[in-house]
Amino acid sequence: MRKIGIIGAGAAGLMAASWAALYGAEVTLFEKNDRPGKKLRITGKGRCNVTNACDVPEFMKNVVANPKFLYAALSGFTPEDTVKFFEERGVPLKVERGRRVFPVSDKADDIVRALWSSALELGCVIRTEKVKEILREDGRVTGLRTGRGDYSFDAVILCTGGNSYQSTGSDGDGYRFARSLGIRVTPLIPSLVPMVTEEDTAPLMGLSLKNVSLKVKHRESGKTVFMEQGEMLFTHFGVSGPMVLSASAHIHDIIPGRYGIAVDLKPALSEAELDRRILSDFEKYKNKDFINALGDLLPQKLIPYIVARSGIPERGKVNEITKEQRHGLVALMKGLTFTLKGLRPIDEAIVTSGGIAVSEVNPSTMESKTVKDLYFAGEVLDVDAYTGGYNLQIAFSTGVLAAQHAAMEEYD
Ligand SMILES: Cc1cc2nc3c(=O)[nH]c(=O)nc-3n(C[C@H](O)[C@H](O)[C@H](O)COP(=O)(O)OP(=O)(O)OC[C@H]3O[C@@H](n4cnc5c(N)ncnc54)[C@H](O)[C@@H]3O)c2cc1C
Repeated sequence: MRKIGIIGAGAAGLMAASWAALYGAEVTLFEKNDRPGKKLRITGKGRCNVTNACDVPEFMKNVVANPKFLYAALSGFTPEDTVKFFEERGVPLKVERGRRVFPVSDKADDIVRALWSSALELGCVIRTEKVKEILREDGRVTGLRTGRGDYSFDAVILCTGGNSYQSTGSDGDGYRFARSLGIRVTPLIPSLVPMVTEEDTAPLMGLSLKNVSLKVKHRESGKTVFMEQGEMLFTHFGVSGPMVLSASAHIHDIIPGRYGIAVDLKPALSEAELDRRILSDFEKYKNKDFINALGDLLPQKLIPYIVARSGIPERGKVNEITKEQRHGLVALMKGLTFTLKGLRPIDEAIVTSGGIAVSEVNPSTMESKTVKDLYFAGEVLDVDAYTGGYNLQIAFSTGVLAAQHAAMEEYD
């Protein structure tokens, strides 16, 4: 029976534990926190968007970094398999907008409980000990070291997570272990993280816009790096919300002013259609002040901001607005621009971009190409995807693949 040590009882480690046991291994799981799944419990705002109900090709379109590397893992353990895994363990799931899958109970704790009790029922042992070092002899892993001593294993699966929300336990130990074994780690940067703007957005704080279009442009090259229609949110420092988080995954070389954001507040209308719409509102409110003429078109909180940026006097009468001013207003509503100052810090990122270089890992087994019997799974790898349940599915799929190969004798 192969003895396997798994470092980290998060999404990848817990899933790997069950599958390594199912493949006949004796499994010990090491977790530095006093209980497993601390980050999992806060996923999906405590509801846990556990996967995305799509097929593998569609899934791959939502992986930002190194999708091809994940093909074998995702094909071996699909979103459908994830649904089956949890439903068989007494957690019914439901599909919401954007094919996002959640537990019917809306409780992330139910997901952790299912993973945890599955591992225990299959005989896995958990040790709440912080791993300090991975032990190696003659180019292969022989075990690991914690504050309480050394443990021998036939294989070790590194599932220490990323570098964000460090209070959950994922604070970069895995990268240190990998570097100490000579394994390359690509630069770690925040992904799925809010954006800071040069412009003061404090007056708009809390305003959520639905069905707007967001474009992010690299100013120097003029290249559009991201464009999507959906939902966004203003904060005291800039912008956030689903679309903004996705857009952040495409920004790797941030310096203040390099990127510009343009929000189309009326993506369903062409400029000419919007102009006609404004004209008809101006006709309706012709004797009112300008600031009181936009209520049919814009949310109340946005009106003073748009009025200020339009340069049209807020107390000027609507019937005094010139055609040029109106066209300027149309242009503003079709492209409300902001300058990107930066991204929020990595600790506020939903995922870490960068990690164990995929060129160092066999994509068919998740084993290190240079250190035998060392496997990787989850966010510690240089893979990341959009929001929508994709990142947890990546943790589960890579966890299962690593477990399968670490556990099976014929791979020795
Ligand atoms: C606020 C938030 C919400 C999110 N919501 C979603 C969502 O709804 N859907 C989705 O798909 N993704 C979501 N994500 C992303 C997702 O949570 C992660 O991608 C996923 O948890 C990664 O799994 P993992 O097992 O690789 O790492 P983690 O779940 O972070 O687990 C790593 C574990 O390793 C342990 N560990 C680290 N170092 C050591 C050590 N030296 N010794 C022992 N143990 C160690 C840590 O304590 C931790 O428990 C969210 C992330 C955040 C921050």
